[in-house]
Amino acid sequence: MPSLRIDQSDLKCKNGCEYFGNPQWQGYCSKCHREQMIRQRRAEKASGSTTATLPKKEQKKSDRANKLNSSFSKFEEKRLRQSETLKLKLSSVFKKSSTADDHSQSTEKRSQEFKIPNAVMEGMKRDFRTRFPTLTHQVDHDARAFVHSFIMDVIKCANIMTVDELSERVQRQYQRFMKHMDSSQHFQDVDADTKEMLIDFVEKHAMTYLHELPSVVFSPSGTEDERLDRAMSERIQQLAWVGERHLDCKLDRADPECRLLLYKAISELLGMDSAASPGGKLARVRRCCRHVVALCGAPASADDLLPALIFTVLKANPPRLVSNVNYVTRFSNAQRLMTGEAGYYFTNLCCALSFIENLTAESLSMDKKEFDCYMAMPASIGGSAWVRRVT
Ligand SMILES: [Zn+2]
Repeated sequence: MPSLRIDQSDLKCKNGCEYFGNPQWQGYCSKCHREQMIRQRRAEKASGSTTATLPKKEQKKSDRANKLNSSFSKFEEKRLRQSETLKLKLSSVFKKSSTADDHSQSTEKRSQEFKIPNAVMEGMKRDFRTRFPTLTHQVDHDARAFVHSFIMDVIKCANIMTVDELSERVQRQYQRFMKHMDSSQHFQDVDADTKEMLIDFVEKHAMTYLHELPSVVFSPSGTEDERLDRAMSERIQQLAWVGERHLDCKLDRADPECRLLLYKAISELLGMDSAASPGGKLARVRRCCRHVVALCGAPASADDLLPALIFTVLKANPPRLVSNVNYVTRFSNAQRLMTGEAGYYFTNLCCALSFIENLTAESLSMDKKEFDCYMAMPASIGGSAWVRRVT
């Protein structure tokens, strides 16, 4: 049963390591989750399971057939076709190879012709000068060259890899850049904190560009992200009747200060969708949670954060929430998610989502009949001013 009261230790990886776990990673931290997945894949390969070895295209096709079978709306089909078309356009530009044929040379040529727009590289140069005015030209050059190869690598792999494989690949890119900084002469005078900031810089610029490409890293094709976004949004609308008393949080809505903090927290959470990089989205989550902590009154305990955050999520009903959380989980530098303030708040947000998905009458300490009665109500009746905007 999902519970409102969580212990600090419940936030940690279920493998018993010191990192934060995450429902998205089946309760493991990113590191243990990846190791778990590798073991699983090996086992599947060893047992000769066909689904595990199907090429991605086949998998996608059967995913799609399943989807269509299971009562999909017309709208959904249309959305799917649209994103397939976009994806098709993209793949005709970046296509690597599928069945080697006489087209391969011309596609090869086209992928060589593909260039990251100059404006992107120029923007990066300016941002570097502003953020790292004391670092050498060589560091600047290395960082930009790395972002360039990072982007090209993801584009090349996106069509032939599952999203989990792509996520692992991106994580290895971050590690590769860290190793480069630790071994290259160019970085010998750069301290550890600045190296961290350089990793963030690389992440920001590579992922911001990739985020703009349809269905590559954000709601990637072949995933359920878009369907889950709609399911989550509908679920939140259905729960619009849930108030602070059900969640047992100490909010005083008559207090203008309190209302202002709630409004700020909601704005930050809504802003998560418009930030392009994982770091930018995490910054929104962090600012949101700081307001939520202030909302609980000082000194706020960890116990108070989760119920108040759930309340904030329910009132905000943020657009594309599942896609945003999955994007951060997959493509943010995993080190940052497993520790520190941002990792802690993000883990709480994931717990809030998991609570909302699974909550029952019991988890709200409510009478079952009363709960069912509320849930049977059309969402518009129980709706608050914040919902009903995205449909
Ligand atoms: Zn772990």
